[in-house]
Amino acid sequence: MDTVAFSVENVRKDFPILSATVNGRPLVYFDNAATSQKPLQVINCITEYYNNYNSNVHRGVHTLSQLATEAMENARLTIARHLNAAHAHEVIFVRGVTEAINLVANSFLSLVPHGWQVLISAMEHHSNIVPWQMAAERYGLKLRVIPMDSNGVLDIEAYDRLLMEGNTALVAVNHISNALGTINPVKQMAEMAHRAGAVILIDGAQSIPHMAVDVRSIGADFYTFSGHKACGPTGIGVLYGREDLLMAMPPYMGGGEMIKTVTFEKSTWAELPFKFEAGTPDISGAIGLGAALEYLKSIGLDQIASYEQELLEYATAALYEMGGIRIYGQAPQKASLISFIPDGCHPYDVGTLLDNYGIAVRTGHHCAQPVMDFFDIPGTVRASFAFYNTKEEINLFIEALRKAIKMLR
Ligand code: PMP
Repeated sequence: MDTVAFSVENVRKDFPILSATVNGRPLVYFDNAATSQKPLQVINCITEYYNNYNSNVHRGVHTLSQLATEAMENARLTIARHLNAAHAHEVIFVRGVTEAINLVANSFLSLVPHGWQVLISAMEHHSNIVPWQMAAERYGLKLRVIPMDSNGVLDIEAYDRLLMEGNTALVAVNHISNALGTINPVKQMAEMAHRAGAVILIDGAQSIPHMAVDVRSIGADFYTFSGHKACGPTGIGVLYGREDLLMAMPPYMGGGEMIKTVTFEKSTWAELPFKFEAGTPDISGAIGLGAALEYLKSIGLDQIASYEQELLEYATAALYEMGGIRIYGQAPQKASLISFIPDGCHPYDVGTLLDNYGIAVRTGHHCAQPVMDFFDIPGTVRASFAFYNTKEEINLFIEALRKAIKMLR
């Protein structure tokens, strides 16, 4: 698909929900880091599947099954190209980032000798902490944390020291923090991990919707994202893994689809990617996710990134102008989300009052409790922008925020 000049007015027409009203006001949807809205191109693609060729995949000889299989495998190819993966079979369909990380934690770490270490960062989502904790306990590994500073920037020298201090099997870090907006130097971190003989898993939940990602140029061994944050459906996501690693890893779940042969004594495994896709997959989800990435590409990932930076700068300036607002996450490289607390207000109350004005923001710990503990706060208000948001919406948000703060102070 060719990229045409970016027009937010045109883009908004693709998203039926953006003309909804909430509490009698036009919806202003600033909760994109939790999940994005879906364009007609994705909704129609899923409807078309159910209306015209719904069928189970991979083993059917009949026409519908072949159509469904072809559509699903085309989606895999689209995703592989989107990520610049070397092979389509390096793309494993999973439920989302959470499942992908559990898969790697259970399967890859089972191959690691006792006493080795796994490094994560101080700004991870719970889904990039808890599975490693559980697996570290099971496999006798150490889990260590790369620290950050008060701007929300990772301490790369400390990372270097941690890599040298023990046998590091794996580093797991987010590309973009969902709590602070920091864009982490993942290419540099991958190089450093490799120099130390470790592999790196990058959680791309917050990057895939906002920027072009090339797994080979980054040097990612594993890269994962969830469809629902990238204009795709819920319940589907991707684990990209380097072929040689995936080949060496044991299956995570057993069942249909992932076997070559089964007897009561022993089973053998299917080739990649099916070895890691037990059971009937989320067929409509996979097809919808392919359509979502095609859609993002048609808008232009670089255009999305630069327009969202404009929104970020505009909203950040407006918040500073208001005064009495503390912004958490001041990294020089930041994605389009702002975590903040107005002085003297509880984030939850701010979010509830904003909802009265039709403005959807997230409040709470954003599944990153260690980040909240680091700043010694209960949570933040988080406004996260997508390419279909506008400066006019930011003005409405600022106006409503002024009123909310007045009521609360
Ligand atoms: N990592 C990050 C950085 C996230 O923002 C999220 C979702 N908030 C996740 C992981 C988990 O994604 P999911 O719930 O789709 O598995």
